[in-house]
Amino acid sequence: MKINNYNRRYWPVLIIFITLGAYNSTFGLLAVACMIAPVLTAFFKGRMWCGRFCPRGSFFDHVLARLGDRNRRIPQLLKKTWMRWIIFISLMTYMGFNLYIAEKSIYGIGAVLFKMVIITTVFGVLLGYLFAPRSWCKICPMGTLAMIAGRGAKVPLVIKSSECRLCGICARNCPLEIPVHSFRDVGIVEDPDCLKCGVCISSCPVTALKLEDKNESRGAVEIYS
Ligand code: SF4
Ligand code: SF4
Repeated sequence: MKINNYNRRYWPVLIIFITLGAYNSTFGLLAVACMIAPVLTAFFKGRMWCGRFCPRGSFFDHVLARLGDRNRRIPQLLKKTWMRWIIFISLMTYMGFNLYIAEKSIYGIGAVLFKMVIITTVFGVLLGYLFAPRSWCKICPMGTLAMIAGRGAKVPLVIKSSECRLCGICARNCPLEIPVHSFRDVGIVEDPDCLKCGVCISSCPVTALKLEDKNESRGAVEIYS
């Protein structure tokens, strides 16, 4: 089983953030960076932030992936568009309401953001333990906005139809279970949820995949023998 190599160093940031936020909720304001960055970068790079820099995504890939059943999959329910929007609207409404009633201070706003990170992280870790590690990334509100902003051929994942044998190894290794090989005739994996993580590229036995980005060569690492 291959796993993302780009983001292996970032999961401790999540632990540090939670520790600091528990000590003083003002540190919750740091969450703004992780809310804005995935959406802004998506305009140029698709969901690359989610795949390469998000500390929570790194935690899913490098901690949760080592725990529990190795063959667990993303629940079909989480792949439904309507479910994604229910989660999005629910969490945004909840956050908006909490900001409305919060103490109007840096501390009060930080406390709300910290609470949102804790709620979504607990939910994401539960999903990732029971199902595929990156299950949360199918419904993450910031991931949803990044998915919309990243539509189009931004850092396209190219699939060479002349090389691909349709073995499906790429799709089986993809953390978001994208049917990579189904795009063989199109030539570009057009799924806007692609995290640009490079796992499929490293998994392909015939080098039929190529991410048109300068840093693609770092590839993935093996976590299960
Ligand atoms: S792993 Fe490579 S050869 Fe196999 S289906 Fe995917 S792109 Fe095609
Ligand atoms: S399609 Fe490839 S690059 Fe995109 S998320 Fe799946 S494994 Fe990563």
